[in-house]
Amino acid sequence: MVRGKDLYEILGVPRNASQDEIRRAYLKLAHKYHPDKTGGNKEAEEKLKEINAAYDVLKNPEKRAQYDRFGTVDGQPFDMGGFTGGFRGFTEGFGEGFESPFDDLFDMIFGSGTRRTSRRSSAQRGNDVETTLTITLKESATGAKKRVRYLCKEQCTECHGTGAEPGSKPEVCPQCGGTGQIRASHGFFSVTRTCPQCRGGGKYISRPCMRCGGQGRISATRETEINIPPGVDTGTTLRSVGDGEAGTNGGPPGDLYVHLQLKEHPLFERKGDDLYCEVPVTLSQAISGTVIKAPTLIDGMIDLTIPEGTQSGDLLRKKGLGMPRLNNRGRGDLYYKIVVEIPVRLSKHQQDLLRELDDLANAKNYPQYWKFRELKEKNFD
Ligand SMILES: [Zn+2]
Ligand SMILES: [Zn+2]
Repeated sequence: MVRGKDLYEILGVPRNASQDEIRRAYLKLAHKYHPDKTGGNKEAEEKLKEINAAYDVLKNPEKRAQYDRFGTVDGQPFDMGGFTGGFRGFTEGFGEGFESPFDDLFDMIFGSGTRRTSRRSSAQRGNDVETTLTITLKESATGAKKRVRYLCKEQCTECHGTGAEPGSKPEVCPQCGGTGQIRASHGFFSVTRTCPQCRGGGKYISRPCMRCGGQGRISATRETEINIPPGVDTGTTLRSVGDGEAGTNGGPPGDLYVHLQLKEHPLFERKGDDLYCEVPVTLSQAISGTVIKAPTLIDGMIDLTIPEGTQSGDLLRKKGLGMPRLNNRGRGDLYYKIVVEIPVRLSKHQQDLLRELDDLANAKNYPQYWKFRELKEKNFD
């Protein structure tokens, strides 16, 4: 894996680049640093490896999301100990899907292809599946148990997973004789390759099942309950162990990854661990100061003191009433942003009262106004 370097930088794309942009950037770079072009230059070769590694992560939306969130995909443990009910952080498996460059080498050295055989015919873990879930800001603050519905491939009930139309049977692949591999001699070495006809399965289906098209599996809707720990945010991904596709040959099932999305709240805006709430006050409340009842996200109503002479835009902070941080690491703050509302559609009488106030006011009452009056008369260079 590429350590220390930003994968987006390596590909020269912005963090919000689309999958298509990433692909195009990769193809361009791969072309530029191709050994055919660079004549086997060592530096270019290193660069190409880096580009390939970066693309391996960013081309896969799931790995990309993990990278965006955690800044790594190389299997470093993440402590997400606050997760309960079968949820753990990402601690493993990010190396999956990277074809080891040594596979072919092993095959060549050991010739017999034992490595591939054991990998293929024995138990295989089921695929991971992913889905998105929208939750409210309040749920992200308190934590919640939520039911998630998602699509998952399951064994076809018609052919019971064989992929062959009921009444028929999968036959032994004629090309590889059922081993799933083709062996060829290259000089001293014997090289094994995955059989192209059966793709390594060793079986050949002459009459594919009508229901699943010979896949042996069909998409089905599943439902599971997940525990959402307090402090999650848009972009947080939770893993539900074992809720992915079933494994084959007795292998363990894959996992379900749930990407969370927060709904907007009519009163509170989240910025990191802090919450912001706009509070309109009247002219006279801002002028004289007062105590009002203010809402919080999960702590009920509180008394909020508006100090005398509060200006529009002033922030009043309530410590510890913001969002909880993951893993019980305390809470952020809640900020009330005061908006002094200028009254509109006042009657003539009301307007006269205010004008009277202005007539009696001086530079002490309106320091900025009077300062500006003074400054604008001066000649500045
Ligand atoms: Zn079927
Ligand atoms: Zn075959």
